[in-house]
Amino acid sequence: GIAGGKGANLGELLRLGFPVPPGFVVTSRAYWDFLDKSGLRDRIFDLLRNLDVEDTKSLEEASKKIRDLIMGAKVPEEIRVEVTRAYRKLGERNLGGVVTRELPFVIVRSSATAEDLPEASFAGQQATIFNVRGDEELIRAVKECWASLFTARAIYYREKQGFPHEKVGIAVVIQRMLDSEVAGVMFTADPVTGEPKIIIEAAYGQGDAVVSGAVTPDRYVVDKETLRILEKNVMEQERMMVRDPSGGLVWKEVDPRRRKEQKLSDPKIRELALLGKRIEEHYGWPQDIEWAVEKGEVYIVQSRAVTTIRKTEKEERRGEEVEEGEVLVRGIPASPGTATGPVKIVLDIKDLDKVEKGDILVTTMTTPDMVPAMRRAGAIVTDEGGLTCHAAIVSRELGIPAVVGTGNATKVLKEGMVVTVDAHRGIVYKGERRVEVKRRERARYLPTATMVKVNVAFPEAAERAAATGADGVGLLRAEHMITEFGIHPAEYIRRGEAEKLTENVYRGVKRVVEAFYPKPVWYRTFDARTDEFRHLEGGDKEPREDNPMLGVHGVRRSIMEPEILEAELEGIARLVDEGYDNIGVMFPFVSYPWEFLEARSVGEEIGLEVEYGIMVETPAAALTIEDFLEEGVDFISFGTNDLTQLTLGVDRNNELLKDLWNEKHPAVLRLIQEVIEAARDYGVETSVCGQAGSDPDFVRLLVHMGIDSVSANIDAVERIREVVHREERRILLEAARKRLEE
Ligand code: PEP
Ligand code: MG
Repeated sequence: GIAGGKGANLGELLRLGFPVPPGFVVTSRAYWDFLDKSGLRDRIFDLLRNLDVEDTKSLEEASKKIRDLIMGAKVPEEIRVEVTRAYRKLGERNLGGVVTRELPFVIVRSSATAEDLPEASFAGQQATIFNVRGDEELIRAVKECWASLFTARAIYYREKQGFPHEKVGIAVVIQRMLDSEVAGVMFTADPVTGEPKIIIEAAYGQGDAVVSGAVTPDRYVVDKETLRILEKNVMEQERMMVRDPSGGLVWKEVDPRRRKEQKLSDPKIRELALLGKRIEEHYGWPQDIEWAVEKGEVYIVQSRAVTTIRKTEKEERRGEEVEEGEVLVRGIPASPGTATGPVKIVLDIKDLDKVEKGDILVTTMTTPDMVPAMRRAGAIVTDEGGLTCHAAIVSRELGIPAVVGTGNATKVLKEGMVVTVDAHRGIVYKGERRVEVKRRERARYLPTATMVKVNVAFPEAAERAAATGADGVGLLRAEHMITEFGIHPAEYIRRGEAEKLTENVYRGVKRVVEAFYPKPVWYRTFDARTDEFRHLEGGDKEPREDNPMLGVHGVRRSIMEPEILEAELEGIARLVDEGYDNIGVMFPFVSYPWEFLEARSVGEEIGLEVEYGIMVETPAAALTIEDFLEEGVDFISFGTNDLTQLTLGVDRNNELLKDLWNEKHPAVLRLIQEVIEAARDYGVETSVCGQAGSDPDFVRLLVHMGIDSVSANIDAVERIREVVHREERRILLEAARKRLEE
């Protein structure tokens, strides 16, 4: 996206009501505009074209030249005006009608965006400029972010990862700078093992000290299910990074009485963990979050997907070492694996050359310049840092074992000494040792007769969803792609900009159908309640309803405002024209067969020839399913969330009623059973895409009922496939036994 990973995430978190410091994004479009208007685009990419990145000297020279070009160029007036205007707005406060204005302090960060490229972690590769104040300072900081795309390291990294330079853009995120008392990072799953534990690292002062590994933080481990605090590792902190009132950050002594204290209180640890859990639930994938506490309030500063968990290769340890040897140092296991080799201590860039293939690189903390040497290393051991320090991030990306934050490895380990690094446990042993690690069997692809599909809501999750090996997309939610730019779909229509709506759908769906081709993708037409997207532009014009859940949404709305539906289906039609014959269109919340017919006719009128299906999420649709089948419904998917709500009369969002919520209520099961049986008579595929499709117990029941496919959330696909596989075998086995008995 043009907002960059960070910018898009923050915007979304803000919309969802998470506590994010106010800010704005200078999109990558501004960056490209700048390159074009300043005439730099060609000059920069020419400089890169024939560059040999292994030649450190020419790499450095090219990098410097490009960065100087950017810093020396003028920012186009339109961009300058827009940026400073948004900036000044951040400093406005409305106190009971009186507006005060001051120039706020902001943090300026870059967020690389790689259009159409597989998910890549550009972690730590770009610039962050702290505590910036003033128009000129801000514009300069934005340019610094743009220039950071061309540091030697960034250029080197892109070459090595095979990212074309001219496809990587950069957005700049500008946020109010927090005066944090405590800050740090949080992983919503163990980034090394993928276990469902929330890991929090915390230190006094600004969080960047934790991220960069400049301070060794407290470390807390929280059970993701119960939010119980499982471990607390409190470290002594002597200095903290704080804002300098005149700009930038400075070190400050920590009050000696507070140095050994736990940095974050237990209730705050749990509060933070809960936020982390919610954010992960929203994205459907473990998150790597930066957070801060200012005046006692928790803020989420950044959130991105943890890219390093390779679930299928999850390694499990078994037993102890074959022989007990001398432990030299212990630290935090930051990137799993083991390696034995001679120690090379690197205290200066000059020492880098001595690191040869397979050596154990030992240093206080790695820096960007060390990346080429890190690639050669057999393992990496550092004195400082936590799970998100430079050494940890880069090692995980490169797949090199790493132990960080040992405290004193550069002193205890001696040059040339042979050691064994066990980066599963965070231990460095003297000599060559066999560290036994049992590799868990790679989750094999389990063939199932019942198809196991996946639900997708964000186009950027397409590749990850496809990587699960799912048999297709059983629910592609339209809402997020349609509202990506913060504008309500109805507003697009009001402005006469249906084409933009069409483009959003076209672009979002394309990424998904491309990732899954030729497996089927069922696009569900727009289904938001009138109270769900009020904060979008034009959302305030949505009707006020007493019961939005029972109101104008799903197919009803599509019929009342066919322009939205038509714009959506136009996007789908373009894809079909391009040859994507794996798309189905699914209408939500139908209760009358004529609703299906009317919605389908909108597609037929624009010549959209696809399979048209319905979601069964009202008892009405379930109980009259034959009438729908007679009208030629091509497929059916159960929306168990709404179906349960409407069958039990229990509001799906009402916390007070959560004990009454039961998708396995016999009434719900009976409706489902009847639909499956009727559909089977007509040879029509049945599926499920509500939350129940990710629930192993529920899925077992569905397999028995004879459902054709189920669709689960990304993180549940593997487990659901296992459950389906096992259940199908059980059914076969039981049938065989019965025959034997007879
Ligand atoms: C459902 O109701 O089960 C469903 C999948 O749709 P939504 O959650 O979007 O209402
Ligand atoms: Mg629904």
